[in-house]
Amino acid sequence: MALTQTETESLTKAVDGSMTLAEGLFDRLATETADGGGVTRASYGDGEQLAHDMFAESARDLGLDVTTDLAGNAYYTLPGRDRSAPQVMTGSHLDSVPKGGNFDGAAGVVAGLAAQAAIKAAGIEPARDVTVMAIRSEECSSWFRGRHGGHLGSRAALGLMKPEELKNAVHLGTGKTLGEQMAAYGLDPEKLMAAPPHLTAQDVAAYIELHIEQGPVLVSAETPVGVVTGIRGNTRSRDGRVLGEYTHSGAVPQSHRHDAVLAGAELLTALDRETEAVLAEGGDIVFAAGKFGTDPDMHSLSKVPGELNFTLDIRSLDVATLTRMRECAESAAAEIETRRGVQFDFGGFGVSQPTVMAEDHCRLLHEGCQALGISAIDIASGGGHDAQEFDRIGVPSSMIFVRNDHGSHNADEAMEIADFALGTRLLAWMLADAL
Ligand SMILES: [Zn+2]
Repeated sequence: MALTQTETESLTKAVDGSMTLAEGLFDRLATETADGGGVTRASYGDGEQLAHDMFAESARDLGLDVTTDLAGNAYYTLPGRDRSAPQVMTGSHLDSVPKGGNFDGAAGVVAGLAAQAAIKAAGIEPARDVTVMAIRSEECSSWFRGRHGGHLGSRAALGLMKPEELKNAVHLGTGKTLGEQMAAYGLDPEKLMAAPPHLTAQDVAAYIELHIEQGPVLVSAETPVGVVTGIRGNTRSRDGRVLGEYTHSGAVPQSHRHDAVLAGAELLTALDRETEAVLAEGGDIVFAAGKFGTDPDMHSLSKVPGELNFTLDIRSLDVATLTRMRECAESAAAEIETRRGVQFDFGGFGVSQPTVMAEDHCRLLHEGCQALGISAIDIASGGGHDAQEFDRIGVPSSMIFVRNDHGSHNADEAMEIADFALGTRLLAWMLADAL
């Protein structure tokens, strides 16, 4: 059932009215978690806690129902007509990377609260409960070393966290394990592990997350809003190595060398060509060798490099493309090995599956853009998000991206409040009745 035109108009006005609340929250957050030009809101740390306290207070002021779960995630609920029906959820994370930007994560929670305030102010009673989830520890890979499955807050809420993660993940700031770190903020991780999941696919009819875009696509397309079609999966080599032979860089003829760096460079060139081919076919692909270097204790100006260490991070929306790239790396390596007398070791390729966003949501998002006069384009998400965890347990999930300059995870994130208002209009339209 769609909103009437009058309802849509009053909702739009109400969203614009709730931008005062939004700007107030953004400003307070930026001031109170300021750190070296950016903001620091550590996962299960002081900055994150401060944000949770601030948002809970704001949600109570709006007359929303405020609860938490055993992992410390918070829920702000606007009651719907049928309180027993599965709820519609939105939200995002309140933590940040160290010295990060003010909008990555927080924008989704602020948008949720602003949308709830607007739905209320417009006098619309949603069919189901509309809940904003303020999620813990999405940026955990910046805060916890050791083996863990990422997205700790949402995975804990959805029953996806494994008990060993509480011990294996160690906080980089405090040296405490995840379990100890949670306990320091009044949580009981053992109780969390013993309890059934706080959220199941039966409790949640839909999850939709608003987030700033983390790349330059919307800025260069001069478009304020993106409808996310999927979240890229990846295949990665974390400990890639090429073994050649250290030797004199003047005395040994080129034909007698086993140069590890040249072999590695050839591998990257082969992957670069394959990337171009995938793109020319209209496919989705990005790749980088973020680490690529010789051992400083062994290398020298006058030595042929005998060893190279590298990483490969290959991402795509399409699992077949990930396989194709991995096969390309392996066959190129085999050919280079024979020709150059070197040895490649990829250390095993890890694989994370891509997430395809709910088709119905994407269709509704485009309908919403049309009804609201918002120009939007389809866009892939290169970074991971909590939405993929909801998708993983079978909750229809989607994302709205808002134009943002200078990328994210840095102090220079630049989202215009006018663009944020458009994204929030669309979110409110989805939450009020569409989902
Ligand atoms: Zn984020």
